[in-house]
Amino acid sequence: MSINPLTQYFRQPAIYVKLPSNGEHYTAGSLNMPVNRELPVYPMTAIDEITYRTPDALFNGNAVVNVIKSCMPNIVDPWAVPAMDVDTILVAIRIASYGHTMEVSTTCPHCKNEDDYGMDLRIMLERMKAPDYSTPVTTGDLEIFFKPMTYKNLNDNNQRQFEEQKILETLPGVEMPNEQRMSALSAALMKITEITVHALSQSIAAVKTPDALVSDPEHIEDMLKHCDRRLFSKIRDHIINIKSQAEIQPMTLKCAACEKDYQQAVTLDMTSFFEDAS
Ligand SMILES: [Zn+2]
Repeated sequence: MSINPLTQYFRQPAIYVKLPSNGEHYTAGSLNMPVNRELPVYPMTAIDEITYRTPDALFNGNAVVNVIKSCMPNIVDPWAVPAMDVDTILVAIRIASYGHTMEVSTTCPHCKNEDDYGMDLRIMLERMKAPDYSTPVTTGDLEIFFKPMTYKNLNDNNQRQFEEQKILETLPGVEMPNEQRMSALSAALMKITEITVHALSQSIAAVKTPDALVSDPEHIEDMLKHCDRRLFSKIRDHIINIKSQAEIQPMTLKCAACEKDYQQAVTLDMTSFFEDAS
């Protein structure tokens, strides 16, 4: 093949980013960690932008996976990314592609004044924290070890949850006998509980008993289904607590109209996250 004289016009890394996990929790071969631990981030190509907007791909997670592969080639298998790194990766790609300012529409809770605020995504990146998955929980003669969910886990659970939620929302409008409606309702609620238990089991690396170290996911999920509620709550609360350490903190804004401060929650809406604001 001949050398293309146009390669100098190919995209270059726009920024370099450190992952909150620092490369821990990745399965072998899913990440090429550079020696200095800073991953190059390329801006999205026109093809990335088009494929990202395919509604199906967005729903099943393939859109995000393809964008990560294209823009952060060091991440060989984006499905294996631990949950704590996902926001950092998405924000870094957004900065590389569209710059570090993101417009956020806000409403002041004091005077209802509506305003747009240019949020600095670099500050958001700096504030991303790695939650502590290394501290085990000891209860009775059990020791429980934890691990972060993967992007694959997150995406599967969200999709299943979304489907059950949709059933719950449409049920009131569907023409059917009351008894049938009640059983459909409890079936959907049961499914959501199952999804929750499944998600909790995905955050448990192993359970140590006086005579065994159990890491079989099915055995762990079975224990969560059949243990008493005190043990269940202890595990659930611990996992919720770890996850909250990694959540994006709300920003404090000053209202331009009444000059009072208020808190604005920040969410990364995937349907519009990779869109040029200009
Ligand atoms: Zn105000």
